[in-house]
Amino acid sequence: MNLIFLMIIKFISVWEEPILDNSTLNRENYERMVNLTPQILCMAYFDGRIKYANPAFNNVFGYSNDDVKELNILSIVHPDDKNNLDNALLLAHKDYQDTVNLESRYKCKDGNFKWISWNIKFEWDEGIVYGAGSDISNTINQEQTIYASNEKLNAIIENISEAMFISDKNGNYTTFNRSARDMFPTTFHNFSKIGDSLKENNYYDISGNIIKHEDMPGFRLLRGEKILGYRVMKTNDSITFYDINGIPIYDDNGNFIAGIQCWNNITETVLHERILQSQFDLLHKTIDTLDLPFIRLSYPDFIVTDINQKALNIIKGLKSEMNSIDIVKGKNYGDIITEFDKTDVFYHFQMIQKKKETSYIKYKELIVFGEKIFVNVLYQPILGLEGDIQQVIAIILDVTKETKAKLQLEKNLKMQEEFFINISHEIKTPLNVIFSTTQLFGLYIKNNSLSENQDKLEKYIKVITQNCNRQSKLVNNLVDLSKIQSGFFQIHLSNANIVSVVEEIVQSVSEYVENKGLKIVFDTDIEEKIMACDPTNIERVMLNLISNAIKFSSQGDEIFVNIHDKAHSVEISVKDTGIGIESDHLDVIFERFKQVDKSLSRNAEGTGIGLCLVKSIVELHGGSINLESEIGKGSKFTIELPSRTVSVPYDTNENKNIRSEHQTINIEFSDIYS
Ligand code: ADP
Repeated sequence: MNLIFLMIIKFISVWEEPILDNSTLNRENYERMVNLTPQILCMAYFDGRIKYANPAFNNVFGYSNDDVKELNILSIVHPDDKNNLDNALLLAHKDYQDTVNLESRYKCKDGNFKWISWNIKFEWDEGIVYGAGSDISNTINQEQTIYASNEKLNAIIENISEAMFISDKNGNYTTFNRSARDMFPTTFHNFSKIGDSLKENNYYDISGNIIKHEDMPGFRLLRGEKILGYRVMKTNDSITFYDINGIPIYDDNGNFIAGIQCWNNITETVLHERILQSQFDLLHKTIDTLDLPFIRLSYPDFIVTDINQKALNIIKGLKSEMNSIDIVKGKNYGDIITEFDKTDVFYHFQMIQKKKETSYIKYKELIVFGEKIFVNVLYQPILGLEGDIQQVIAIILDVTKETKAKLQLEKNLKMQEEFFINISHEIKTPLNVIFSTTQLFGLYIKNNSLSENQDKLEKYIKVITQNCNRQSKLVNNLVDLSKIQSGFFQIHLSNANIVSVVEEIVQSVSEYVENKGLKIVFDTDIEEKIMACDPTNIERVMLNLISNAIKFSSQGDEIFVNIHDKAHSVEISVKDTGIGIESDHLDVIFERFKQVDKSLSRNAEGTGIGLCLVKSIVELHGGSINLESEIGKGSKFTIELPSRTVSVPYDTNENKNIRSEHQTINIEFSDIYS
């Protein structure tokens, strides 16, 4: 009875509602209510054995009635709460308190613990304790979760690398995290509200203008502004740059309750950016001042954004309508450089995209204003601060000279090759002739018919001699040519009468010339001209020119050798009325290894190195050689030698040597006597 009564008292204190008329309650009513209530009701002995527990007790802890009979409430108290509980009980006992409120955890049947909030009443006389409890596990767990997340949040705020300042609605600082304290290591204690730090420091915007106090992020936040990526600069001993983000916080009713500012030290980034920017500017300036044609292209669509005059000159030469910078700007690169193989250009652009490196188009042939030029095009990607391609610069390098030189070199090598093939024929021919003639000699000796063939033998000996001379000429020419090439060929200048030197050469060959059915005429407007020359080599020059005149003339033609005195020079010309030379061959005829027309020169053998030697010898004299010719009418070679003297005495014997040197004539004319 007592128990039920106590229960009722408990209900009163938990529900805090006055109970209706007591008289309507009977035992049955009480029992029903005790069985119904979600409140845990428990009656236990002081030693913890349970005397009574209502169904809610069983429900909350999961124990059956049989379990409860055996259960000692103190044995299921959480070990960590045991002390508290014991102390509370001891204290209650000491003071003979009637009631105690306490919270502790109890083990359920499934092994988990539940938090129970107890109102406990002691009946000291009966040795019994009455308890009414509520399961507060959920509330406690939630609190713990919130507490844990708050802890986490605080730890995050404290440890983030950005300096965080949190202020309340009145602008008073509530939080400085560690980085924020580090920003003002000695003075942050003095900062209580927004604006306090400004007493120590001024702040500047990125262009160096001082920022007004009311425009500083803290004040802007107070006005409810959001701050995104605001860059400021602080100068004291050194310069520091910050990137600031800030957010105002509002409550559910839209009232401003706090402002959060995050300051990120970006000094290194800014300095890095500035270095990159200055390099970027320098690159642009360098490109712009380069005296090279360049085109600036946007990326990735390759639209012309800029073009300098030099590049325009080329583009204009390719397409006449592209005649101003304004017209070209805004055009797609592929549309202005139509001469370029699009797939080729596309390939280079792909390389740029892939490797972010310079890419070249080499030795591209273009026809600019009708003239062939060769260009290398260099595509240079310009990277932004993030390493991304921002634009592409196309620099056009005119490599016409180099390319032509390269092509010329290739041509020369080919010519050299042809020359040696030709030479080998020239070497073999006289040898074959000599060889077959000596075989004939052998045959006559074998047949004992030498004397019968006396007249033939003389002819054969002449043939052998002539071919030996041809061989000598060839060898001499080759040796001299290589000496000239390597710079070892020397002429020996002496003061000689050039008129008699030339006249005597003409005289000495006149018989040969006439034998070929030709006429040779010598004429001069001076009788004597003493000047510096190498008579031996002048003889070679004259014999070469005359032998060519013979070779390329027919019976009845005439050869004129003239000397004409000019103020500071002497002109010696050899003119023939022979076959003449095609006009487009005139300028190559003196070049090494060039024989104008194989079919023409075949009427007499030749290597094509004679005129090259002639020109070299004349130039070693300080003179020049010139050719005029007309096909079918004849050719005229004119040599101009400077009329100067050297300090070597005039030697009259020199001339005599020339005349007596029939062997020289035989050698130089050896290719005519076939
Ligand atoms: P080669 O030893 O073959 O005669 P040259 O250097 O003396 O070589 O001459 C080169 C070529 O120039 C000749 O093969 C010939 O085609 C042409 N040539 C030289 N002189 C004359 C000339 N007087 N008339 C016509 N063609 C000439």
